[in-house]
Amino acid sequence: MGKKRKKGPSKTKEKKVKRKRPVIKLYQFYKADYKKNTVERTKKFCPRCESNFLAQHSNRISCGQCGYTEYLKAAA
Ligand SMILES: [Zn+2]
Repeated sequence: MGKKRKKGPSKTKEKKVKRKRPVIKLYQFYKADYKKNTVERTKKFCPRCESNFLAQHSNRISCGQCGYTEYLKAAA
């Protein structure tokens, strides 16, 4: 009989690659004024859904939920 090759562990170790996802910090959407004790929304809500924030793009803001898009005025 030939030499038996020593097999390594059958379970191949899968490298766990942690994908870094961009962390959306919710507090960025709000601007708290402690002196006035008020909280202002720095981002717009979707007028259709009324519960989703509009995604900020370079020249437009859009809702990922319903596709509502609002074009910003182009800076002259
Ligand atoms: Zn929407």
